[in-house]
Amino acid sequence: MDATTAERWMRVALAEARAALDHHDVPVGAVVVAPDGTELACGRNRREQQRDPTAHAELEALRAAAATLGTWRLDGCTLVVTLEPCAMCAGALVQSRIARLVFGTDDPKAGAVTSLFDLVRDPRLPHRVEVHRGILAGDCATLLRSFFTPRRYTPQRQGARVDEWGGLENR
Ligand SMILES: [Zn+2]
Repeated sequence: MDATTAERWMRVALAEARAALDHHDVPVGAVVVAPDGTELACGRNRREQQRDPTAHAELEALRAAAATLGTWRLDGCTLVVTLEPCAMCAGALVQSRIARLVFGTDDPKAGAVTSLFDLVRDPRLPHRVEVHRGILAGDCATLLRSFFTPRRYTPQRQGARVDEWGGLENR
């Protein structure tokens, strides 16, 4: 996937991330692109909305894409996500046999693709994923940072504290 195409899809993922703000979730968004370059499915973080620890943007998008395709195998597909996937989502990417991962900003506290682990390119696992890192990273980080800015703090967001995602301060 070339840089222009990756940025175009990252803007779709960013729009999805912004929509998570409507339900007071940390703004992370994802989109799965089919091998023919069309959109298969979107997903956004709904952990607070669904009260589900596994309702991350990547899993929502992978589930929806598999439902659209009618198979769990996402051969040749690309997942584009605004934040570096965690261990759970990186594991799901391997399970889905997806071809490619494009992500925006690093997550130094929980990232499992470059920051803490590299699960998707571990040669011991049965499938490896091509990785494109840092696409529109500034925009993705700014959106996350805006969520955790105290002036935007509301009681509905008590479940999401700044210490849950303080990655940027550690860079
Ligand atoms: Zn995750």
